[in-house]
Amino acid sequence: MNPSNPNPAAGAAAQPNEAGGPPAIVIEKLNKWFGEFHVLEDIDLTVARGERIVICGPSGSGKSTLIRCINRLEPHQKGRIVVNGTELTDNLKHIDQVRSDVGMVFQHFNLFPHLTVLDNCTLAPIWVRKKPRAEAEATAMKFLERVRIADQAQKYPGQLSGGQQQRVAIARALCMTPSIMLFDEPTSALDPEMVKEVLDTMIMLAGEGMTMLCVTHEMGFARAVADRVIFMDRGEIVEQNAPGPFFDDPQNERTRQFLSQIL
Ligand code: ADP
Ligand code: MG
Repeated sequence: MNPSNPNPAAGAAAQPNEAGGPPAIVIEKLNKWFGEFHVLEDIDLTVARGERIVICGPSGSGKSTLIRCINRLEPHQKGRIVVNGTELTDNLKHIDQVRSDVGMVFQHFNLFPHLTVLDNCTLAPIWVRKKPRAEAEATAMKFLERVRIADQAQKYPGQLSGGQQQRVAIARALCMTPSIMLFDEPTSALDPEMVKEVLDTMIMLAGEGMTMLCVTHEMGFARAVADRVIFMDRGEIVEQNAPGPFFDDPQNERTRQFLSQIL
């Protein structure tokens, strides 16, 4: 983002992409209901290629649901979600296209417990991408090295610490060579001493230009790497800004109240 722009959020949707081509993600007037419950209300969000966004907000505000809509783990009922130029509809071809561009890391790792670390990382490349095993394993080892856990490749998830498992989950997502990574509270299930190793891995990815949407309450991380921080409450984007002004001078009363509880 342009650091001289005092409110990058406001300008992001209108600005042409620096690298050319469509923005990474365009969300327009997104609405979603669970039965009668209106969980997402008129969400507008454009994410530029290479942009790093942190989403925060109280429990139940719809952060996970928003993230999950972006790779169609949840369908939406109104509005548009366009990822790398492909709109998410019921069309399975488009859903597959979007999912091949978007990696996701969850709070609870979601590794397959009966598979080794290496097999967790090669499963989708082999079965979904039809990669030869040797090639998938070479790629997996490369990403396991990037997250500094290659020496554990033959172990099972249950033999690893939470921080190690989460780094494996990040490597597994990277093995599908996504251009966008979604993180849903990746450190909130970890013991405090393991948070840093996972955040360091995410900081490394951010430094390499990965487009990232991270739901997290790690405000140090947000200050260090986010181009933009978004605050959600009751299914709406209430406020968004660059981390400096967001934390130092929040405009909305609900944002102020939330920040006073977590900072
Ligand atoms: P957050 O991630 O901000 O804590 P969520 O997106 O998980 O919030 O949930 C937002 C609201 O939607 C919560 O009230 C939650 O109980 C509700 N919700 C989430 N998933 C479902 C579901 N599958 N069915 C019904 N309600 C749901
Ligand atoms: Mg959540």
